[in-house]
Amino acid sequence: MRILLTGAAGFLGSHLTASLLERDYQVIGLDDLSTGSKRNLIRFQSNPNFEFVNQDVRLPFNAEVDGILNFACPASPRHYQSDPVRTIETNFLGIINMLHLAKSRGAKLVQASTSEVYGDPSISPQPETYWGNVNPIGIRSCYDEGKRAAETLCFDYRRQFNLDTRVLRIFNTYGPNMSPDDGRVVSNFIVQAITGRDITIYGDGSQTRSFCYVSDLVDGIIKLFEVRNNPESPVNLGNPNEFTMLELAESVLLLTKSKSKIVFEPLPQDDPQQRRPDISRAKMVLDWTPRVQLEEGLQKTIEYFKELIL
Ligand code: UDP
Repeated sequence: MRILLTGAAGFLGSHLTASLLERDYQVIGLDDLSTGSKRNLIRFQSNPNFEFVNQDVRLPFNAEVDGILNFACPASPRHYQSDPVRTIETNFLGIINMLHLAKSRGAKLVQASTSEVYGDPSISPQPETYWGNVNPIGIRSCYDEGKRAAETLCFDYRRQFNLDTRVLRIFNTYGPNMSPDDGRVVSNFIVQAITGRDITIYGDGSQTRSFCYVSDLVDGIIKLFEVRNNPESPVNLGNPNEFTMLELAESVLLLTKSKSKIVFEPLPQDDPQQRRPDISRAKMVLDWTPRVQLEEGLQKTIEYFKELIL
């Protein structure tokens, strides 16, 4: 089976590429290297089942494919807010291009959506049936609304053209292959701790996130792609264990034995106060549950960053 994976050089894309190749898929990895890195793909260079295409997903792409995994989009607030027009275009034009391709080839399509479709949620944990609490004109909207529009298109193509489209909503994920300047909280705290810089907590650190280790997420994505029956609704993938940012900072300090100080910086606009997935649907339709808990995942991620930057 030939798969087109957009965003292949990114954090998730590179892990997905490895997993797909291990399962004997042929992979076309498309990426414009705007936030992804060629370094993440070096190990696949000599694999005859892997082909890299340097292209922006906002442009049409054509190839003979049986499956499409659409993962191209910066996911860190720092990156997606640095060029918001490009971000919403990447989501909107990207999925339109991929759906056109899926339709013309009769290919199955998996869309990487996000817990950000729930915005600053007023219920916790968040089930897929929750419609969310999203600011349509704020600094996060280019990402949130872009992903929401992409979900709409996937379901419209399913209803109107009977296309096999599947949507996963990814909750905060971390692990090796994140970029040191990614800007998201896990990579920031680890890089700060191992280089002895201050740990920057935004706000008072009482806001929560639920962190999923990348290998667990990738297992869930492959299951969603391969499962015979289309789950019909989006599927949350994440680890339901919830932590405050203060607890995360303390764990990172403990595991790195760092002497870094914790400092408090202003909370960014529209920063969600809580986030925790309800994963009953993933358990039911994919028989999936995350296995790696925070301490083990942080250890592996710390080792990766130490090797990369020390
Ligand atoms: N955050 C923080 N310090 C940092 C980076 C992020 O306290 O150096 C906070 C951020 O304000 C948010 C949480 O950590 O409340 C998760 O942020 P991240 O950018 O990782 O992802 P988000 O879930 O907000 O998209």
